[in-house]
Amino acid sequence: MGLLSRLVILDFSVYDFLIYRTLAFIIKTSLLSKFTFGFANGMALYPFILVSPEEAERATLIQHEKIHIKQQLELLVIPFYLMYILEFSIRFYQYGNWDDAYRNISFEREAYAQENNEGYLMGRKRFSWSAYFKS
Ligand SMILES: [Zn+2]
Repeated sequence: MGLLSRLVILDFSVYDFLIYRTLAFIIKTSLLSKFTFGFANGMALYPFILVSPEEAERATLIQHEKIHIKQQLELLVIPFYLMYILEFSIRFYQYGNWDDAYRNISFEREAYAQENNEGYLMGRKRFSWSAYFKS
């Protein structure tokens, strides 16, 4: 089985572009969980959302990753990753474990809090993640 046969483009989200002015390609791939040692079933790497095939239909996961796409865009992508890593480091120092550190990153706090809120992306204001920052 070649690499290409494992990469399936699920959704070219023209609809999302019209509604949210955001274009992202959702790619269903089994490589993601392999490369993250089973840690991640979804990941937003603008302009792509990578999802595990078995999780691809889970709306809350897709919504979670779409929120990350919006965060990445408003921070011009690269600064998002730098801030993500920086806050992860601070939280890791604070909590002393990987899972609490990850869950308490502002970007993740927004994504987890709103992943079940269907209309959230429609009315979301820029930099909304900043309201989820806690010291
Ligand atoms: Zn996340």
